[in-house]
Amino acid sequence: MTDDDFAGGRLTIDLGALADNWRTLAALSPASECAAVVKADAYGTGLDRAAAALAAAGAKTFFVAHLSEARVVRAAAPEAVVYVLNGLPRGAALAYAEVGVRPVLGSREEIAEWAGFIAASGANPAAAIHIDTGMTRLGLEPAEAAELMRGGGFGFRPALLMSHLACADEPERPETERQRSAFAGLRALLPDAPASLANSAGTLLSRTAGGDLAFDLRRPGVALYGSNPVAGRPAPLKPVVRLEARVIQTRDAAAGTAVGYGGVETLARPSRLAILSIGYADGILRAGGSEDGAPGAAAYVGDVRCPYVGRISMDLIAIDVTDAPASVGRGSWVEILGDHFGVDDLGRACGTIGYEVLTGLSRRYQRLYLG
Ligand SMILES: *Cc1c(COP(=O)(O)O)cnc(C)c1O
Repeated sequence: MTDDDFAGGRLTIDLGALADNWRTLAALSPASECAAVVKADAYGTGLDRAAAALAAAGAKTFFVAHLSEARVVRAAAPEAVVYVLNGLPRGAALAYAEVGVRPVLGSREEIAEWAGFIAASGANPAAAIHIDTGMTRLGLEPAEAAELMRGGGFGFRPALLMSHLACADEPERPETERQRSAFAGLRALLPDAPASLANSAGTLLSRTAGGDLAFDLRRPGVALYGSNPVAGRPAPLKPVVRLEARVIQTRDAAAGTAVGYGGVETLARPSRLAILSIGYADGILRAGGSEDGAPGAAAYVGDVRCPYVGRISMDLIAIDVTDAPASVGRGSWVEILGDHFGVDDLGRACGTIGYEVLTGLSRRYQRLYLG
């Protein structure tokens, strides 16, 4: 036994499902390479394990946010091409070149620093250029990018031209086609460079009325981990994370009893409650709690839905197990995330998205890997 055996939560990460999701997404547009976005500890699933599983499934190109993450991918998948989305911090060029990872350059300053490093070092490490076609976040302005491309003005040959979709999770929005067509026009100025536009939502949509979103390389992230970014449109993805919480104690309480901090929920019927050994400090956002007239998230015991009762505490959650088998008691495990209630369901119940549920998964959970 180790302390892990007494953890309040047990997180099972199915690397086989992760690999299957990558293969499913790759097959949607077979002519376009399918990369894997593994920033934020592979969306909370564990970067080293996820990167190794994705590489074994066939992924050759990875995107992270930071150099520290790129090092982990480099160690887990030595052959991988690794891009760092958050660009080039001042003075970092030598470190990027030494690790053999590629910055995604999104401003004239970053491009000048990279070109200066190449000129001074005589090496020719690869980098991507990010063009902003409507996100207003990172990347060159379209006119700036066009000027640099027409004039051969980067000082090196970009290994990838990329842009990022702002609204593809809402398929009816016209912005996605506007971004696609702006990006297609710009990449035509440098037709030899591979081009990349699609995130998970763009990969699942695969095209707009105006044309294909896949280009040469797609960059799905969240869909790999089983979350569907396009609400209301079923996607062929398998759940990757399963989370169970340990019951510490059960108690019976009369109708009218107030439960938890603030007493914001009063029981409508005589109830049996189970107190779980996880809370908002484990990434179960407090907004998922329940109060009179405003129900929150739900756990499951087998097929029985067991709603959260009252506010979520830092390390504890109360659920209603009145309808669950009487065997639920100290030491039982209940499902927090799984086939009945997935990351997108918990996200919705907390007023947020599956991304935030995944990236908030606690370091305190016992972690088990399948596959
Ligand atoms: C995070 C990110 C992705 C992946 O987005 P998902 O919605 O998780 O698929 C792709 N490209 C860029 C630039 C990103 O920042």
